[in-house]
Amino acid sequence: MDEALLRAFPLLAVPASGAQAPAAEYGTRYLAGRHGVSREITLPWVRICRLIAPSALPLPYGVVADAVEFRCGPIPLDVIQQFVAHAKEEQPLEVAGAFLWNERHDSWRYARRTLRSVSAAHLQYQELRPADGEHLVVDAHSHGRHAAFFSAQDDADDAGAMKISLVLGNLDQQRPTSKMRLCMAGLVQPAFLDRDGKLRVPA
Ligand SMILES: [Zn+2]
Repeated sequence: MDEALLRAFPLLAVPASGAQAPAAEYGTRYLAGRHGVSREITLPWVRICRLIAPSALPLPYGVVADAVEFRCGPIPLDVIQQFVAHAKEEQPLEVAGAFLWNERHDSWRYARRTLRSVSAAHLQYQELRPADGEHLVVDAHSHGRHAAFFSAQDDADDAGAMKISLVLGNLDQQRPTSKMRLCMAGLVQPAFLDRDGKLRVPA
């Protein structure tokens, strides 16, 4: 058990020279650096490194820089428009879908999610099955005529996830509102699309 845990979440001391070997595999590792322990998550579409346990004293290791590097290409306007059209079609009802990224072709597609059941508190959607080489990067849903914001339910849904969350609101209006965030296993930060459709986080 101990061994399995250490294999799944290795801890690495970063050399003082700063020559830190890039992760050889996808997954999570912890890096002991000058300022404390950072968590690094590497997925096909993103690498994210964040200091999560600052040290009270400088440690004898190299500096580990915080980073968010998106490895997927820009999201085509057409894919975004398909989601907006879907959300407008169904408003005032809520809809859900996903933007799937194919690492082989660096291509994107929009997939609608099918409603499985409607309970008083929550809508339940069928899980999507990504094809070979595909990754569910953006989890999208709409709020019908209500504003775009992340509700307590959204927070609960996103708690342990590793994805981008996108919510659209005010779909009865000319200009719908939107909110986007990057969720990385407990850490959440705002995200946005630049003019070219590239995923970004504010500097
Ligand atoms: Zn929501």
